[in-house]
Amino acid sequence: MTARSDHLQPTPDDRFIDIDPSWLDFGPDDPLDAQRWLNACADCGGAPSLAMNELRWQVRCDCGRAGTPGQLAAIAAVNWNKSPLSLHPAFGELPFFALDGLSIPAARAKLIRIREYLEEQKRRCERRIRARENFGHRYFQRIRAYLAWAIYAQGLVREAETRLLDEASRRKAANAH
Ligand SMILES: [Zn+2]
Repeated sequence: MTARSDHLQPTPDDRFIDIDPSWLDFGPDDPLDAQRWLNACADCGGAPSLAMNELRWQVRCDCGRAGTPGQLAAIAAVNWNKSPLSLHPAFGELPFFALDGLSIPAARAKLIRIREYLEEQKRRCERRIRARENFGHRYFQRIRAYLAWAIYAQGLVREAETRLLDEASRRKAANAH
């Protein structure tokens, strides 16, 4: 009997990522369930949809706007979500990583560590693919999707910070008059 586990056993090439175990609970939702998490179109406010286009997934809106295609539907979804073509939520509204209620510095610190962890998991998967080892491909897809979401989340944190700095400088300019 061969047991196939979703959890990869470490090899000597693997890097240890020191991360709070509670941070590895990315939430109950599936990052591959991409259609659920599409931002509304920034141009028309409509709800776009995911479709295959020449063997790649792409998000399209009825108004004609379309995101960058991706191999995975989840990657195409994040490409759309992080682009200026879509309306961006606050980082605390993301379905993953439990960012709700965190300050900007706390969210930033958490996402740096989560991204490091996911990048290491992705490298481990890629090494196993190169070595033609048998392992769960859905696990690899989930890691890639979570990584795309983590990078997108970092962008949303930067946007929140920029907004705060803009407000502060506007207040300063208003007080100077
Ligand atoms: Zn549209």
